[in-house]
Amino acid sequence: MSETEAAEVTPNTVDDNLTFADLGLDDRLLRGLAKLNFTKPTPVQAKSIPLALAGKDILAKARTGSGKTAAFMLPLIHKILAVKDVLPANSPEATATRGLVLVPTVELAGQVTAFTNNILLFCGRAVNVLNIAGKQNDKVQQPLLATMPDIIISTPSRILAQLKLNAVDLKTHFQTLVIDEADLVCNYDYEEDVKELLTFLPKIFQSFLMSATLGDDVDSLKQLVLRSPAILKMEDKAMDSTWDNLKQLYTICSETDKYLILYVLLKLKLLKGKCIIFVNDIERCYRLKLFLEQFSIPSVVLNSELPLNSRVHIVEEFNKGIYDYMIATDEGGLKGEKEAEEASVQEIVEESKEADLEDEEEQDEDEEDEKDEKEDEEEDDGIPEGDLEMEFDGSEGEDLDEGEDELEAMMKASDNEDEEDEESAMAEMQGSATPDSKKRKAPEDDSKTASVAASSSSTKSKKKSGPKKDQEYGVSRGIDFVNVAAVVNFDFPPTAKSYTHRVGRTARGGQMGTSLSFVVTAEEKEKSIKASQLLGGGGWSHMQGDDEIVFNRVVKQQEASGCTINPYTIPMQQLAGFRYRMDDAMRAVTRGSIREARLKELKAEMLNSEKLRAHFEDKPKDLEFLRHDKTLHPTRVQPHMKHVPDYMMPKVQAVSSQKIGETAGLGQITYKKKAQNSTRKGRQGKGANSGGKKNDPLKKFSFGGNKNKGGKRQRTA
Ligand code: AMP
Repeated sequence: MSETEAAEVTPNTVDDNLTFADLGLDDRLLRGLAKLNFTKPTPVQAKSIPLALAGKDILAKARTGSGKTAAFMLPLIHKILAVKDVLPANSPEATATRGLVLVPTVELAGQVTAFTNNILLFCGRAVNVLNIAGKQNDKVQQPLLATMPDIIISTPSRILAQLKLNAVDLKTHFQTLVIDEADLVCNYDYEEDVKELLTFLPKIFQSFLMSATLGDDVDSLKQLVLRSPAILKMEDKAMDSTWDNLKQLYTICSETDKYLILYVLLKLKLLKGKCIIFVNDIERCYRLKLFLEQFSIPSVVLNSELPLNSRVHIVEEFNKGIYDYMIATDEGGLKGEKEAEEASVQEIVEESKEADLEDEEEQDEDEEDEKDEKEDEEEDDGIPEGDLEMEFDGSEGEDLDEGEDELEAMMKASDNEDEEDEESAMAEMQGSATPDSKKRKAPEDDSKTASVAASSSSTKSKKKSGPKKDQEYGVSRGIDFVNVAAVVNFDFPPTAKSYTHRVGRTARGGQMGTSLSFVVTAEEKEKSIKASQLLGGGGWSHMQGDDEIVFNRVVKQQEASGCTINPYTIPMQQLAGFRYRMDDAMRAVTRGSIREARLKELKAEMLNSEKLRAHFEDKPKDLEFLRHDKTLHPTRVQPHMKHVPDYMMPKVQAVSSQKIGETAGLGQITYKKKAQNSTRKGRQGKGANSGGKKNDPLKKFSFGGNKNKGGKRQRTA
């Protein structure tokens, strides 16, 4: 399309006194905004809304957190209201789809839909919105599309599928196309879908392209959908201050020390506030959850295997502050990233080494599993066999073994589904999540996921069976996580881009945030393997790393943008007292227990998902009983591990006098001796956030003790 017009906007051109009313928006929208307590437009809204109302195409560099959803949705709705207001009451023209919002993930679709419904609060029935992302069942979807909703929110592949089936008409009265998170849309290989989709649209319509970056990656989309757009490059410090407010830390450690460090950080509340802990695959989600459970540290998991409704609800609840710790995978967001290819040679070498090693260890692990299963049976682990039987097809005669076989097949399928894909293979070699195939598939909908899990399949094939990972799952990008104090890269991300997106989940909306990344070097990996052997295998040998390649790339990338990642040095000898507990807890987490936990969670979430479906449709007020962080292996919770006795408290002198740029000793745990004499009540009875300052030695700790009065990025968590 035609050349873009340079109409770049800088923040100082935004009038601070501007209100939404000044932008000329419909009154009904202004009331909706007031109800949301949006008192004044954010810069991207202030700039884009008048231009959009004047009919301009918009290309905006705006990230999640900048208020970009309202920036495109308000003018889109305003235009629909304006058209419908002047049509006679029963005009057939009143019923038509006029707006299409394309998003890369089902999570984002849910978020944009929820926001739109809030904005529409005072619009009565004048405008309705339909989210079709993530729903695959045409029988459900097509009657809804037949009502010709004013606005459709979808992933590109989903709407394209419906357009091809003639289930929706976007030609007749269509007005506005939005591509939200356009860089991700490209990253998810949706360009071809978008190209094809354009053939179903009229020649003239208004377009918005919102993207976190305006680089080459979105070039082709720009050319495809925009005509002489106004280009907005927002540098909104108030809403988009991630990098200034983010303190980035890393620690080099072994695989097993990751568990020890995280346990201590969480147990002693050295990491305060809400925390997202990223791991690289689903199995590790449950491994970590089961590990933490034993210390009575509850967490909620979020991964692509869970039903969509559960995922949406989990994010909602996490944002409300119901859970402190979320263990998440971001496998959906890794597609097509260059780094996997760049690292291919190294990874191929690593893979073959790992394959050899795993072959050797597999045998030990199988023996270990058998032993565990026997133990579990003897101990009555709280998961009645009947539960497992019911899981697969509801028939009464199915036995536990078959159920477990099924789950195993399912999990293998889930873990290996994109095996042939070169990129996935690369990522798998790193022990990371599987990037999706270049050949896109429509997303799995809840019922499909449920039915696949529930159906009895005899196949033991590794591929293409069982509840698949949702191809359009994305948690590290686009989703608006609120008030996240810290991000922990428990597993170092497989790409530098993924690192950026993960750590970008904290330090949002002008708040401070910390990221801590565990980096397992080749040397540490060797040690880990030895340690794993000492622990008797138990699946712990599935080591992550070597993380150095990606880590070095991340460091360079951060330096190029003027940011630093500082070492967080933990005096491991001070944690010696915790180590035997960690070993104990690690031993208790076997492949068998992970498998059971995963099954139990899946089953619970499928039931939850049904309830949530009703919830999302009818919006009942109270769903508090539906917690997602329940203990998955209750008999393994060891009451004595819940508390930390005085003698185990690490005593480390503060290393807080470091100057900016000095790294030695940066970020050590600080501890004031006086605190040792305080009572246990002082330590345990009062949480780090619940007052009791004088008695609580945990108050004396600080995560990242490096004081840096001048530098914003040096603030403690
Ligand atoms: P977004 O960038 O669209 O994901 O929005 C980020 C967050 O900012 C969301 O939680 C919005 O509800 C919120 N938000 C958007 N616009 C405004 C505004 N004008 N005033 C206050 N909050 C806003």
